[in-house]
Amino acid sequence: MEDRFIKFLHSGKLAPIKKWGTYWSLWPVHLVTACCGVELAHTFAAGYDGERIGALNYGIARQTNLIIVEGAITRKMAKILRVTWEQMPDPKFVIVMGACGLKGGLFWNGYNLVKPSDVVPVDFYIPGCPPTPEALLRGIRQLQDKIKSGEAKTSVEFTEKDLGVGKPIKIVPKPKKVSKTATIVVDVPRKVDERTKEIAKKIEDSIKNIKVIAVSKNRVAVNVEKEKMKEVAASLKSLGFDHVKNVNVIDVINEQKFIVEYHLGSYSTKDLMPIILNLYTSISRDDPKLKSLSDIFPSADYMEREMHEFFGVFFEGNPHMGSRFLLAPDSPEFPLRKDFKLEEEVYLR
Ligand code: SF4
Repeated sequence: MEDRFIKFLHSGKLAPIKKWGTYWSLWPVHLVTACCGVELAHTFAAGYDGERIGALNYGIARQTNLIIVEGAITRKMAKILRVTWEQMPDPKFVIVMGACGLKGGLFWNGYNLVKPSDVVPVDFYIPGCPPTPEALLRGIRQLQDKIKSGEAKTSVEFTEKDLGVGKPIKIVPKPKKVSKTATIVVDVPRKVDERTKEIAKKIEDSIKNIKVIAVSKNRVAVNVEKEKMKEVAASLKSLGFDHVKNVNVIDVINEQKFIVEYHLGSYSTKDLMPIILNLYTSISRDDPKLKSLSDIFPSADYMEREMHEFFGVFFEGNPHMGSRFLLAPDSPEFPLRKDFKLEEEVYLR
C-alpha cells in the first residue's frame, strides 16, 4: 500500500485536467466515528464553508473519493472503515483527524483501539483533540497540495507496458477481484511484547491458582470463578494495582450469562503503570449477582452502579444497588440487555 502513488492523475495528455478536477472535487464520505465528527460538521457548515475549497461531504461511498477518519477507530469499526474504503472509486484518499486516530488519544489504553493506518492507507494526519475546523481545512489544503505535486498515495498502481513502438505506456491495473462472499475480514493482529509477557508471568507467580494471559502490548487478562473475584482483586491490590478504571458487562445471551470485567490500573507502582489488567468472570443471567469490589477499589463504585442500571447486575455489598442515578425515574429497566425491546412507533392512519 505504501507504494501506491497518484500516477493516474499525472499521466496522459489529460493529466492537468484530471489533476485540476480532483483537486477541486474532494468528496469526503460521511463516516462519523467519534466526537471529532462535530468539528467536521462545523468545518462544512456555513461559518467555515469547506465547500469553497472544493470539498463537500457526500452520502454514498461509491461516489466519494476521500475518507476523513474522525478520531477513534475500534476493532468493530475497523471493518466498516475498510468496507467503505473498498467501495470507493480510485483515486481515493484518507485523512485521519484527531489524537485518537494518531496514537489512541484519550483511549490510548483502550483494549479495542485500532490504528487507522493498519486498516487503510493514510495520506494525511491532523493532530489535536479535537482538531479545529481551521486545522481540518488546512489538512484538506495539504492533501490538495499533495495531489498537485503528485505525492499523494492512492490505491491505483499503474504498470508499464512496452508496445514495441515509442515509449512504454502506463496502463491501468486489472479490475480488483471481487470476493466470493461479501465479507471483508479486517484482522488487525494483536502484538504482545516480551515485557508484557514478563509482567504477566510475575503476577501469575505471585498469586496462587490463577492464569494470567498477556493479550497484547500492556494488556493482561485474568479469568476467575465468581467466588474468587474478591480474593484475587485483593491480592492484585497488594501487588500494586490501586484503582479500577472501568467496569463492563457483556451480555452473552446465547449462553445465558453475563461477563463482568474490571479493568485495573496502577498509579503507584512504576512497572505496572502502563499495564491494564482485565479481571473478569461469568455470572448466570438468571441470577446476576456478584460481590462488589467497591470496598477494595472505591473507584469501582460509580461504574458498578452504572452497570446495575443498564444490565440489572446486582453488585452485593455496594450500598447503592436498587437506586437510580443515571437513568430517568420513568425509563425502562435494563436497557442495554440484548433482549431489551425498543418501543415500536405507532403511526395514526
Ligand atoms: S481526538 Fe478528541 S475529539 Fe477527536 S475523537 Fe478523539 S477524543 Fe474525540
